[in-house]
Amino acid sequence: MPPSPRIKGWCPGAWQPMATGDGLLVRVRPPLGQLSREQLVALCDAAETFGSGLIELTSRANFQLRGVTDESWPLLMAFLVEHQLVSDAPEAERQPPLMLAPAWQKGDDTPTIARLLQARGSELASMPGKVGIAIDAGKAPVLGDSAADFRIERSTEGDLLIRADGYALGTAVSDIDSAVEQLIRLTHWFVDSGGWASGRMRRHTAPLPEWAPTDTAPAYPGEKLAMGKHREGMVIGLPFGRVATNTLRAAVSPTACSVQVTPWRRLLLKDCDTLPAIDGLIRHNSDPRLAMDACPGAPYCEQASVATQPLAEKLSGWVEGSVHISGCAKGCARRSPADVCLVGEAGRFNVVVNGSADSTPVKTGLTESEALDVIKKLSESR
Ligand code: SF4
Repeated sequence: MPPSPRIKGWCPGAWQPMATGDGLLVRVRPPLGQLSREQLVALCDAAETFGSGLIELTSRANFQLRGVTDESWPLLMAFLVEHQLVSDAPEAERQPPLMLAPAWQKGDDTPTIARLLQARGSELASMPGKVGIAIDAGKAPVLGDSAADFRIERSTEGDLLIRADGYALGTAVSDIDSAVEQLIRLTHWFVDSGGWASGRMRRHTAPLPEWAPTDTAPAYPGEKLAMGKHREGMVIGLPFGRVATNTLRAAVSPTACSVQVTPWRRLLLKDCDTLPAIDGLIRHNSDPRLAMDACPGAPYCEQASVATQPLAEKLSGWVEGSVHISGCAKGCARRSPADVCLVGEAGRFNVVVNGSADSTPVKTGLTESEALDVIKKLSESR
């Protein structure tokens, strides 16, 4: 079994950046999961001026800038606040992050609930830093595979539903106000029943209270946004969740008026009907990189001893099925098992078949070319 990676137990923000292998990592939560075109361009400017020029889109639908220094961070924060990319009140960032179902529209319940929850944010219990809330109140939930501890969804009958992570069923409520009220109450129950020790709802073993019965099923899940044309604009993919600022700037100029983020390494460019050919983006559903996950790896993460994303690019199209390249056994880029998983350890690679980064490997201690040979043989034998 590979050694356990360090689990930090908190998530970086903008006011609380995290030191990583390539400097400070600053995470920006787009308000309501959306940025105007001008804000996105400002984010690109910020990444170039104060960071390394790379932007990442996380599995919780946040942007992050890398390579920020102790000296550039105060200037970056002033810039982000000026462009309303970050609140000027650091305490706002301590509220649990809200993940909104992508492609919500004006008048949908999803943004209405999010605004109400933001307005009542101070009434939520103070919870461990990794706890998050998904607001997925469209006809069919789409965030079921994305990490969230509490969810507001729609039931098979069309009612709003509050569901705790780890439970297949949830509690139906009559309206938006009741949904927010129930969610706030549930966060206090979580803390009062030992949630700080559990850290996350799925690890929390206390039984749910009587006033939160698990008797209502969520509606059948909907589809992720497909690449290409969408009724609201165009969907593009960021290979392994990373993009250079020049590429992103070119993608939103000049037609997109706003951008909605997703937890699937995809962006919805709203009101955009054509996209010039731009290198560094995924535009087709057949792109093999969509079935691959790779964490930042070395030199970006201090826990990684191997580079991951260049290897993922090399492997693209080699393996039929899912591929996960992880800088260490923590497996940040993918929670579920993959057909093939390459895991870095002490500068070498371990190979896992049909498993996760922390599963028992079938081969250990391989150089990159040895690992590639093993993968080649595996794919030929399938
Ligand atoms: S999985 Fe990757 S990003 Fe996560 S801690 Fe390990 S090396 Fe870092």
